[in-house]
Amino acid sequence: MSPKYDDVPAYPAGLRLAGRKVVMVGAGAVARRRLAGLVDAQADVLVVAPAATPSVEAMADDGELRWERRGYRADDLEGAWYVVAATDDTAVNAAVEADAEARRIFCVRSDDASHASAWTPASGRHDGLQIAVLAGGDPRRAAAVRDRILEGMREGALGAAHFRGKKAGVALVGGGPGDPDLITVRGRRLLAEADVVVTDRLGPRALLDELASDVEVIDAAKIPYGRAMAQDAINNEIVKHASAGKFVVRLKGGDNYVFGRGFEEAIACAAAGIPVEVVPGITSAISVPAIAGIPVTHRGVAHEFTVVSGHVAPDSPESLVDWAALGRLRGTLVLLMAMERLGAIAETLIAHGRDAATPVAVVQEGTMATQRTLRTTLARAAADVREEGLRPPAIVVVGEVVAVADQIAR
Ligand code: SAH
Repeated sequence: MSPKYDDVPAYPAGLRLAGRKVVMVGAGAVARRRLAGLVDAQADVLVVAPAATPSVEAMADDGELRWERRGYRADDLEGAWYVVAATDDTAVNAAVEADAEARRIFCVRSDDASHASAWTPASGRHDGLQIAVLAGGDPRRAAAVRDRILEGMREGALGAAHFRGKKAGVALVGGGPGDPDLITVRGRRLLAEADVVVTDRLGPRALLDELASDVEVIDAAKIPYGRAMAQDAINNEIVKHASAGKFVVRLKGGDNYVFGRGFEEAIACAAAGIPVEVVPGITSAISVPAIAGIPVTHRGVAHEFTVVSGHVAPDSPESLVDWAALGRLRGTLVLLMAMERLGAIAETLIAHGRDAATPVAVVQEGTMATQRTLRTTLARAAADVREEGLRPPAIVVVGEVVAVADQIAR
């Protein structure tokens, strides 16, 4: 700790600033960071600064705060409850601080905490709680501790036991493409609160290891369905547990609404009067190409990307895909569930105008330790996949963006 700070602890308080005047002197990067919190707290914010960063200017344009485009004057503090001196001019900050002291207004200084009458804690919010950490003038340490606390809460280490049993209903949680780090913060949190988790073959299995031992994990593929449809059996299982007052997380790979039959589950819950929360996931359609180094769009190369299921053969009467139109597109095609019919799909696209030499990438088990990528062309894709022994789950990317990937040496 820097020796200029004395050992007297600060007195923690939560200021309720809604509707109260707060003056921010300065409108640079530091001010911008503080302003977000002040605006959130609905303070009546006056910013005084000759120039502002674009985001502060935008906040002023949106009416979230008032910005006086000029230098600081002592009478700016008139009627204020709280002042932040955040200019890059020490003399100005010192003047603000002295004026605030004389008026008994608490003042934060961005440049010299030892002279300020108040300190800004590192803060964060989680599930209705506010965390604020002061580290005696060491903002990095405060931020690090704050991050640890928030992380712990999100992962349920502090929260799970406490929150479990509080929630009921169903959450449709997108688990992301496979790497357990690629679930959303909200998805992970709800998972820690689940009484029952209904999973699939796809999706981040590693997350299941973190669940408390009394959480019931149901593998959707193993639900017996007799003469009914498998999906109906899954719907019934979800509804059954939720009706019994359990909080059910339906965890799927990617996003539940992208070829995930998630909306059928939402409809079943709605019909049973069960509340459903949807937590979008990172779909494999975009994230798996990205992790393999392929952007699905690139300026001057592709102005569209189309995500298509290859589950049904192109010539099947059940197909809802206009393959002829896709053959005419020059943008990126992302094919899911297409490994089995890759030959027929490629032929159909070529027959309808797509260049046989179009670069293709096939990414198996994207974002996982076992990820493999095959580079080929539309004409050769099916044969190369067979030769190299690639298997589902895999994403097939068709388009010039696959060649763009070469611009970064890997
Ligand atoms: N809801 C999922 C897609 C389900 S369909 C999502 O949004 O990602 C299943 C198909 O998704 C697989 O056949 C495969 O084409 C693709 N897929 C899902 N995860 C994948 C992964 N990690 N790597 C490659 N392909 C994946």
